[in-house]
Amino acid sequence: MFNASIEVHTGDGNRTYFWTDRWINGTSIQALAPDLCRAVNRRAMKNRTVAQGMQNKQWIRDITGQLTIMALLQYLELWQLIQEARLQPGVPDDIYWRWTTSRQYTAKSAYQMLFARSTALQGAKLLWKTWSPPKVKFFLYLALHNRTWTAERRFRHGLQESDVCTLCDQAPERVEHLLVHCPYAKEVWWEILTHINMPQRFQQLNGDLYTTWSNLRAGLAKMPRKGLDTLFMLVTWTIWNEQNSRVFQSESTTPRLTAQRVKGGQDYDGRRSAGAKSLGCLLPQE
Ligand SMILES: [Zn+2]
Repeated sequence: MFNASIEVHTGDGNRTYFWTDRWINGTSIQALAPDLCRAVNRRAMKNRTVAQGMQNKQWIRDITGQLTIMALLQYLELWQLIQEARLQPGVPDDIYWRWTTSRQYTAKSAYQMLFARSTALQGAKLLWKTWSPPKVKFFLYLALHNRTWTAERRFRHGLQESDVCTLCDQAPERVEHLLVHCPYAKEVWWEILTHINMPQRFQQLNGDLYTTWSNLRAGLAKMPRKGLDTLFMLVTWTIWNEQNSRVFQSESTTPRLTAQRVKGGQDYDGRRSAGAKSLGCLLPQE
């Protein structure tokens, strides 16, 4: 992971490792040509600098193992890339840290980078502990890792013309927008939070998905906290379903009716399940 945080602008190539450092367009050869690298002599893999590798095409002699077809194709591509690479004698390699604009390593940026990873992990832990149907867990797992097919993601992959939110038509449809910040989502949240008598928690709807989740549950006793975890999954899942029915069935409904669906448990047949007991303790008794 540390390695992934470092990029190199090559100068004379003396401080940069040929096979493992990220010196070709911000990528390492190891990442570009994994099959080929399996055929590279292990010692050369670790120690060969860019300067040495380029000298009389030494890098080609580092390839000593059997070549598969994939490795061969990667070799041909790599050969082209290396041909285009130019070293600058007398200029030291510039090795920099990716996570700050100044490109200087700071402890803060390292913590932030680590923290960004660990929130996804923490989210995953919470996810497995929380009661909800597997499909809902899977959805939220993807959402926490920013891998749900929102309009923004479909747009980024060239699958559609616009990235604008399916629900409000106002902002790019990123996952935290769709499920937390969108005016539509906020109306659903308001309905739900007032329903469970926690309207003051409405202010916690900011930040990314995991931050919102942990702020919403903060300070609650065990049972209501578990209930809130399940509820968080069900609300986000129901909003996601609304987005889906607009995209795939051209059907839409109001935030109030969507909140109604959460309360009624239509999308997850939750309240009948024994596992949803903790949820029951949140909801007003009828
Ligand atoms: Zn929106």
